[in-house]
Amino acid sequence: MKKRLLLAAVFGPYGVKNRYAEALGMQMELLNNQITRAQGVHSPRQSYWTFPLYFLAENIKVETTVLDFPSWGDFKRELAKGYTHVGINFIIPNVLKAQRMARYIRKHHPETVIILGGYGSAIPDLQSIVPHDELCRGEGIRWLRKYFGEDPDAPLRHPVIHGPAYEYLYGAKGRPRGAILMPGVGCENACKFCATSHQFGKSYIPLLPKGEDIFRACCDIQAKIGSKGFTILDENFLKQPGRAVELLKLMNKQGKPFVFDIFSSAEVIKKMGVDFLVRLGVRMIWVGVESRHSEFDKTRGIDLKELFADLKRHGIVVQASTMLFQDHHDDESIRADIDYVIGLGTDFIQFMNYTPLPGTTLWKEMESAGRLKHLPYRYVHGAGELFQVHPHINDRKKHARYLRNAFIKKYRVGGPGVLSMAETIIQGYSKAKEDYRFRRLNGLAWDPGLNRYVESDKPTEDEFMKARIRMMRRLADNIRMILLPALVFAPNMNARRKAARTMELADRILGRPTMKQRLISCVLVATGTVEWIRILFSKLRGREGVVHQPRCRITTYNLLEKHVFDVEKETLRLPYRDSMETTAW
Ligand code: SF4
Repeated sequence: MKKRLLLAAVFGPYGVKNRYAEALGMQMELLNNQITRAQGVHSPRQSYWTFPLYFLAENIKVETTVLDFPSWGDFKRELAKGYTHVGINFIIPNVLKAQRMARYIRKHHPETVIILGGYGSAIPDLQSIVPHDELCRGEGIRWLRKYFGEDPDAPLRHPVIHGPAYEYLYGAKGRPRGAILMPGVGCENACKFCATSHQFGKSYIPLLPKGEDIFRACCDIQAKIGSKGFTILDENFLKQPGRAVELLKLMNKQGKPFVFDIFSSAEVIKKMGVDFLVRLGVRMIWVGVESRHSEFDKTRGIDLKELFADLKRHGIVVQASTMLFQDHHDDESIRADIDYVIGLGTDFIQFMNYTPLPGTTLWKEMESAGRLKHLPYRYVHGAGELFQVHPHINDRKKHARYLRNAFIKKYRVGGPGVLSMAETIIQGYSKAKEDYRFRRLNGLAWDPGLNRYVESDKPTEDEFMKARIRMMRRLADNIRMILLPALVFAPNMNARRKAARTMELADRILGRPTMKQRLISCVLVATGTVEWIRILFSKLRGREGVVHQPRCRITTYNLLEKHVFDVEKETLRLPYRDSMETTAW
């Protein structure tokens, strides 16, 4: 019998409390869920596709369909088309959704093999909760290839994936143009709470091991969908410095100043240096701070405030992340830690509750100390009650309250994240021009061996950096259009002044806005007003805000030419029901 594989994400609705999942912390939105939460109309709304499923489908020979963001009806309809195997990808708090899907398959399609994968696969007693035949833990491509009798070490192909499934800013639908890159999974830093690191055996598994592989993937994606900006989904991208250096060399050589959003730990950022990051085209960087009294090697001995200020001065938007309710936190020190992280002055902060996730060292420590509360897994989302007994704070209302208040405080003190981002990008463009002039006057040139600017006997025009600066100008021109709505909807005097100051900065550095830019700013105020009213009504109904639902997308990968994107596009069973153009705010 011909094998047909369905790779499915869990069904929606998402971020809505029902029999299968919670509302809090469970929207399919990273930003609104856990970064710009409490920022109301200023919160960019983006939902990301279930990327690993596309990576898997692209790299196996079995005919495969990816079912992303299905409703329950979509899932049943797709199953009825006949599949020999169904893979369900889920995270721990969605375990009851996976259970419903698997039980339905067992009942109505008993001959179908059920494969479970994703972070939910770390649940220790999964067999008794979700019926299944196979469990894929860790890196899935090689696992699936082996399972279907294919060569696990055959070359990997990177799929072409647009950025968010949807994007709204101040209520206006965006026209995102970015794409996603997944050059590797896991992280060797092995922080004891980190599910990503433990899921992959506390090691890093490269999918695109060389800078050349990444550069090729970027060029390929650019040729197919025109993207020049990429979100690199790699937990610690700069941890492989040789690869990043090679990527820069190739971009330099080919005159392609791609732009990247990356995740990296402080110690490697420090090692690579800000000049390298600017040259590489890092627009935004996600850095784990965790706590002022950090016990993690990645931040030990580093002046984070200075590091972040330097990054921001050079136009790199900084997104910090931190955890509340670590063991040393009591009512006093948790507040001090929140103030400390806010005081680092980053553009965005992710706050999460310290959570022992199955499979991690922290989980084992808590289990052996008898501190696991064994709540139902649906509550392991890091935004509510702690999963462990805490040494000092065990009022579960406080667990949710401290977290929510941390977001509110960041918003009140720092203003909207998008406003900070605009300020960083605009001043970064100015600094890049200034630095360029300085280097020209002083005969400095980039030394790719030393990874820094050095005096040169034969300085030439730095054409690559000129192109990079033009790219930075475009980013600054785009982002300035949010300044008017940021001013109009500013939450307090502080934020209003910051918006006005940034508008002046933009005028000084970029010149007066064009008519088109003014018009778009006014449109954003209009759409923002509608969104603001929607949020208000939502709050009157006792909710935190408006919950958006991504639409279902079904992609079938053709058996013979599945790796040819054009063919893939033609074989879509359903047209994309949402815009396939993505990101760029
Ligand atoms: S550095 Fe980040 S990705 Fe790596 S183990 Fe620590 S928390 Fe996880």
